[in-house]
Amino acid sequence: LAQLFRPLDMLGMVYRTIRQGVIDMEAMFALIDTPQEIVDAPGAPDLAVAKGEVRFDDVVFGYDADREILHGVSFTIPAGKTLAIVGPTGAGKSTIARLLFRFYDVNGGRILIDGQDIATVRQDSLRAAIGIVPQDMVLFNDTIGYNIAYGREGASHAEIEEAARGASIHDFILSLPKGYDTRVGERGLKLSGGEKQRVAIARTLLKNPPVLILDEATSALDSRTEAAIQDVLGRIAQRRTTIIVAHRLSTVVEADEIIVLDQGRIVEQGTHRALLAGDGLYAQMWMRQATERDSGEEAELADA
Ligand code: ADP
Repeated sequence: LAQLFRPLDMLGMVYRTIRQGVIDMEAMFALIDTPQEIVDAPGAPDLAVAKGEVRFDDVVFGYDADREILHGVSFTIPAGKTLAIVGPTGAGKSTIARLLFRFYDVNGGRILIDGQDIATVRQDSLRAAIGIVPQDMVLFNDTIGYNIAYGREGASHAEIEEAARGASIHDFILSLPKGYDTRVGERGLKLSGGEKQRVAIARTLLKNPPVLILDEATSALDSRTEAAIQDVLGRIAQRRTTIIVAHRLSTVVEADEIIVLDQGRIVEQGTHRALLAGDGLYAQMWMRQATERDSGEEAELADA
């Protein structure tokens, strides 16, 4: 009977491979609609990443023709630097990340990586250059080792372990009944949000992309887990061009540059210090979250 299932396993592998990019994106973007099809131009060259500078040049975009979402967004992230995008829900933060991955084509303006318009290069070369740590990753029904190895085809066990160490999940994996061979996902061991995020980080470390998109979890992790994950994320963002889609302001303090997006427009831009001093939307958001944080801590203390 096992013989019979082998071809099915093979099929499953092929299917998983094809689905790779799609699942990564679905996990991150939780899409409802089927996106329009993006087609490579005939003879499109590969993206050649030299340093990893990312530039949005007057980008205009709407999912539907009758509703524009981004109304001319421009910013530059110098190679290796971190840009955080903050702003109210629905402002267009995730849309910016989706466009960088070329999940959709822009309606106006250009997105450039090291001077190359991403609409003119091969999609797989673009996606190979960008790592995404989604806020809620969907695991494959496979071993935890496979789920990490997925970051790069042909990675050795030593490399997988090194990535797991980098994501501070190696010791946890060793504590599992079958270590790296423990099955996870829907039909296996259920991992917590923090553990799944660490698997995503390990996968990204293995992929080692020059450009990184971090979609911060909206759901609150407990504060110790969150601090540990922030620490790991901070390390993997080093030396890579990074965009953080930030839902909590506490994580953007260290960013080289912050843009505040409101209704598809950049309304403020600068470092944390400069924006606080500016006394605008960012400063207001910061004050509000600080108040929430304080009352949250009081509640925790009262429980103890
Ligand atoms: P944010 O990440 O800042 O919360 P988004 O970029 O997710 O905001 O969304 C910006 C706007 O685009 C919202 O008004 C949202 O309703 C709309 N939107 C997001 N995804 C889609 C989609 N797939 N189809 C149509 N509209 C969308």
